[in-house]
Amino acid sequence: MPPHDLARLARQLDGRLRATSADRRRAGRDASPLVGAPRAVVDPAHVADVVALVRWARRTGTPLTARAAGTSLDGESVPVEGGLVVDFGGWNRCRSIDPVERVARVEPGLVNRKLQHRAARYRLFFPPNPGSADRSTIGGNVATNASGPRSFRYGPTRAWIRGVAAVLGTGETVAWGSAAPKRSMGPDLTSLLVGSEGTLALLTEIRVGLAPLPARRLGVGVPWDPERPWAGLIGLARGPDGASISALEYLDPTAASALRGSVAAGRGPGQGLLLLEIESSTAVEERRGLEAVERIVRAAGAGGPLRRFPDAEALWRRRGSAGSAIDPGGTLRVREDVAVPRARIDELRRRLDRIARDEGVPMVLYGHLGEASLHPNFGVDPTSPKGRRIRAQILRAAQSLGGTASAEHGVGAIKRAFVPAEIDGPGCRVLRELKRIFDPDGILNPGKLYPPADRAPSRSPSATAAAGPRTG
Ligand SMILES: Cc1cc2nc3c(=O)[nH]c(=O)nc-3n(C[C@H](O)[C@H](O)[C@H](O)COP(=O)(O)OP(=O)(O)OC[C@H]3O[C@@H](n4cnc5c(N)ncnc54)[C@H](O)[C@@H]3O)c2cc1C
Repeated sequence: MPPHDLARLARQLDGRLRATSADRRRAGRDASPLVGAPRAVVDPAHVADVVALVRWARRTGTPLTARAAGTSLDGESVPVEGGLVVDFGGWNRCRSIDPVERVARVEPGLVNRKLQHRAARYRLFFPPNPGSADRSTIGGNVATNASGPRSFRYGPTRAWIRGVAAVLGTGETVAWGSAAPKRSMGPDLTSLLVGSEGTLALLTEIRVGLAPLPARRLGVGVPWDPERPWAGLIGLARGPDGASISALEYLDPTAASALRGSVAAGRGPGQGLLLLEIESSTAVEERRGLEAVERIVRAAGAGGPLRRFPDAEALWRRRGSAGSAIDPGGTLRVREDVAVPRARIDELRRRLDRIARDEGVPMVLYGHLGEASLHPNFGVDPTSPKGRRIRAQILRAAQSLGGTASAEHGVGAIKRAFVPAEIDGPGCRVLRELKRIFDPDGILNPGKLYPPADRAPSRSPSATAAAGPRTG
């Protein structure tokens, strides 16, 4: 990209382009160990800016990586091939909420927690509540199909997206989805953009569905012996007795001990912790829910006391900080995100234990147990050969059990090589063709998601930016 091209773009965008080394350094990282080196950061003010930027990028063959809060964990928002970062952090308004349709129109940079506050005024809420909800945005949640503890009852972000406005990699603007509560008109174009990690289009508005806020929410903590199997517990929680349960999480003894405050209290030495949430309309219903939870956990083998947490939001905030709690110094670790069919969850745990034992590396385990979705954390530099080997073993273990190498965080730059083990040849071909249709010049977030050997259209050599990732 010749410097005069960048200067011309800056003029076209009325100077909304930042290129100090601090700006570029910040935009080159997310919460993964990868580092990219963008040429500049653009803060588009209007959809017209986004269109102008995409047209310019096509003409100059410059990669564009969308960024919101930069909390992704596999390099999803790292500009691994340089180019420009498109910062949607300033697009943070909730434009409207329709309480009858239960739909919010939001800008992509709106922080998840802020949407929750706005929706609560109408006694509504946005069900996906990732651990990063205080920072991560609706645009980022959509682009990674994020989940959270409440996905046990309500499903992932994909289940709550009603429509999008976006600028495709062609520079065309689109508005997809329908305001009608139901529509049967071909495959769902909106859904194609969910989980697409900014590789197909730049989102400029999102319409999300909202659910009625339950009158009462109660968090419950139960000590859990780490050796005890899980599959029976999950089965019971999904049965009729578990009707009021909206979340079922697990933390192993190390992760549970690291949580601040009283959350982890009441456990015996060496015990892990189950965290559940009960939703109800009345105190009587809540008491029945609690009794049902007690029956379930006792039937599954838990013996310790049940601890109540009236402030369920605070509980999920603390649970969301489990990663930093086990690792306050921010040392490097392999932090993974896998899921398997529920019936195979105990097999996955045994495989993970074996990897830790064979590699001689300590593992800390927590996750969204009700969805058989686990976050194994291994205390090893993820950029080292050993770290890469351990990551590969974890991902392959989940895949060989019929599960997935990415339960909720995405693929990013780190897991591309594992895609063909889950999506068959024709499926990968369709994905590549879609990429080509949406983004014929391959300018949108190159180096992500699609398997490396099958990269969609190459750009002109002049567009290839300086730095690649520190690791892969
Ligand atoms: C402490 C912590 C806890 C976490 N807990 C969870 C959890 O419980 N569940 C979970 O699913 N994830 C979790 N994550 C991962 C991360 O928060 C999610 O993936 C989140 O959805 C990313 O949102 P973001 O706003 O930070 O997006 P970013 O990291 O900025 O971007 C993520 C992706 O979205 C794309 N993107 C951003 N904006 C746009 C746009 N306008 N148009 C098109 N593409 C766009 C980017 O290019 C990138 O591919 C956690 C991360 C941390 C650090």
